[in-house]
Amino acid sequence: MTESAQSFADVADDARVSETPLVDKGFASVRKIGNGLYATISDLSKGNTTLCNGGFLVGRDAALLVEGFATPAGASFQMDALRMVSQAPVKAALDTHYHLDHSLGNAFYGTRGIEVWAHPAVARRIVDSYTPLQGADRAAALGPFEKRMKDAKSEVERAHAQSDLNAFTMVFQLAKASVLAVPNRPLDPAKLPMKVELGGLTALIESYPGHSGTDMVVRVPEQNVVYTGDLLASGWYPPCNDEKATVSGWRETLKTFASCDKDTLFVPGHGQLCGQRGVATVREVFDDIAGQDVQRGRAGGRGTAPVRRAEEIQECFCVFLGIHHRPGDHAALRRVAGKEIGARRDIQMRGAVFSGPMGLLHK
Ligand SMILES: [Zn+2]
Repeated sequence: MTESAQSFADVADDARVSETPLVDKGFASVRKIGNGLYATISDLSKGNTTLCNGGFLVGRDAALLVEGFATPAGASFQMDALRMVSQAPVKAALDTHYHLDHSLGNAFYGTRGIEVWAHPAVARRIVDSYTPLQGADRAAALGPFEKRMKDAKSEVERAHAQSDLNAFTMVFQLAKASVLAVPNRPLDPAKLPMKVELGGLTALIESYPGHSGTDMVVRVPEQNVVYTGDLLASGWYPPCNDEKATVSGWRETLKTFASCDKDTLFVPGHGQLCGQRGVATVREVFDDIAGQDVQRGRAGGRGTAPVRRAEEIQECFCVFLGIHHRPGDHAALRRVAGKEIGARRDIQMRGAVFSGPMGLLHK
């Protein structure tokens, strides 16, 4: 069984999940997963239009969209799917966090007069993270990744370097191609959870730590469904490359997910729909790397602390968006091993400085 088939097996017998998708465009499909609840699941092998997962919730009186996706076409695709089942006015679209694969399509909402809700830091972090890329010279931005390809000393090293180069090239191109649009309704985490009444359907927006420092989830308690954003990426390594990612916070959040009803259906930020088994798997990965850290600590690490830290982030960048995931190999996360990898903004590494949430290398 493939890894994604395995993750899907978790919910394959779940009567809430419709077997037939409402719409399937290859790059993403939309499926009914509950009463008025729909999940948009992306397939990265078939294009970058949406990149992340999302969905929508639709009641008698209103609808709530989840995610801005990687492009306005992605947000538009989901809106079209909503209109196949309901003409209810859209209350808002929620960016679960600021990362570009969840937010670059916001411009679509702007043209439709749809409010975009998000954590208060999202607007600033979109601008701080992606405007530098828009102004960056391609050769300078991609050079370090290309150099790693050239300098690779083994097939494996070359494959990793190639994968990182591909991932960063995509990030770079997406940022360049997009007119940035930022959320216009900040949701203060101190005032959450926020109840969203859609008419016979009540959703809760909640804030949790772990993936980006701006993470929010949409929970439908009456139906045991949670749209998790990237706090859960089913079948993937938890992408820890963000400067505000906290391993300890993330583990607490996953513990909270695990304490939800045993029949909870999770719509992860990436990967297939999953149930509690999907949460348990990611928790095992975190447990495993924490265990490895203890052993490693006893044995003593290599290199100076800042260099090691930079290598950890470099490794984490490999798993950014899960594009480069290596089933059965926890090496990348063993190296972050329970550390707060996001604590440092700038890290010296071989004369270059790692900075920003994308781990962009500056010369
Ligand atoms: Zn993310």
